Amino acid sequence: MNNLIAAKFGGSSLADSEQFRKVKSIILEDKKRRYVVPSAPGKRFSKDYKITDLLYLCHAHAQNNISFDDVFKHIEDRYTGLARELKIRIDIKKYLDEIKKKIEDGASADYTASRGEYLNGLILADYLNYEFVDAAEIIRFKNYGKIDFEATQKAVDERMAEVERAVIPGFYGAMPDGTIKTFSRGGSDVTGAIVARCLGAELYENWTDVSGFLMADPNIVEDAKPIEVVTYKELRELSYMGAKVLHEESIFPIRDACIPINIKNVNRPQDKGTLIVDDNKPISYSGTITGIAGKKGFTVIAVQKMLMNSEQGFCRKLLSILESNGVSFENMPSGIDSVSLVIEDIQFGDKLDNILEEIKRQCNPDSLEVYPNMALIATVGRGMDRTKGISSKLFGGLAEGDVNIRMINQGSSEINITVGVENEDFEKALRSIYKAFA
Ligand code: ASP
Repeated sequence: MNNLIAAKFGGSSLADSEQFRKVKSIILEDKKRRYVVPSAPGKRFSKDYKITDLLYLCHAHAQNNISFDDVFKHIEDRYTGLARELKIRIDIKKYLDEIKKKIEDGASADYTASRGEYLNGLILADYLNYEFVDAAEIIRFKNYGKIDFEATQKAVDERMAEVERAVIPGFYGAMPDGTIKTFSRGGSDVTGAIVARCLGAELYENWTDVSGFLMADPNIVEDAKPIEVVTYKELRELSYMGAKVLHEESIFPIRDACIPINIKNVNRPQDKGTLIVDDNKPISYSGTITGIAGKKGFTVIAVQKMLMNSEQGFCRKLLSILESNGVSFENMPSGIDSVSLVIEDIQFGDKLDNILEEIKRQCNPDSLEVYPNMALIATVGRGMDRTKGISSKLFGGLAEGDVNIRMINQGSSEINITVGVENEDFEKALRSIYKAFA
């Protein structure tokens, strides 16, 4: 690992010149912050527009032969304003004119959207006095659109060998033929992770507008405490259940390389933020939980059949019915003669009746029941592993909060206990669990 930090700054951290100033002072504070990945400018206030959204809008207008002059004017004003206020030496208007012309001439949606990061990268590089390295030079995709790690590593090795400090725009790279390709929305997180990985950074800093993750959704649990340390696995469980700060794909490039990620707040750089670490790192929080997250909108299909445990192939039949209907399940708690399938409602479309018919026909159950309007809540923490009393606290808390538990599931990894409750009990359940561990 090298003695350097890759730092990604999100759209709200670069929304106006005041935010740029904060970013610069953060970067100058630590000499190790040598490679910087910016997003496009985000919203300055709640009714403001994100540059990326405006660029997609320009593209859509151009495709339908509708003038996008007005929309482009907004974009132009944002960038020329930044360039003026930050005393940028490059001629940003020249770049803007070129981009506008290309959109008029039918540039792709990916090219158009990527210019948000490209222009912001040019401005930030000049402002920091760092070299500008176009992401198209180093971030490489395969023909079918997945990132090509080998080609990217090779390009980084060649291009960055002599580059001491650089700004590399997030969100996009190039296809083998050189055309621009973007990641999915929020993808600058992924660029930052890839840059950290390919340069062997000791740390990937992800600067945003919150001081990391909180133990629970603050809209439900008002006084939710911040999570100081979380492992990749815990984070996966929590973010799957709805806790969102990072783009999901940004974890994979650096997880294998064991590079920690620090989520930090540009507006409160003194806060520790959340550190995401390797799953095998020793922990100091035995007996406690890391976080609680959950989602509403599940349906449970409960199947019972006498002697199910000795009937070979029963679950295979059940799951193949889901497969042939193109439906996946979230959880499958089971008893000796019963099994339940927990399925997210959006999966069903109009397939539920058909699935039930097929279960009746192929599996011949003694009873088949459907429980709609369920919510799942995952209580997650590596500190729960091999610790007594965690479930008693959890279920005690739910009993005290007068919540009826409809389903319980503990993953074999012992870092997650999931409970199913009625949708209407969701908020109450989350608060009760939090209280039990606070
Ligand atoms: N600007 C892109 C978006 O809005 C990518 C990013 O911000 O990470 O999705």
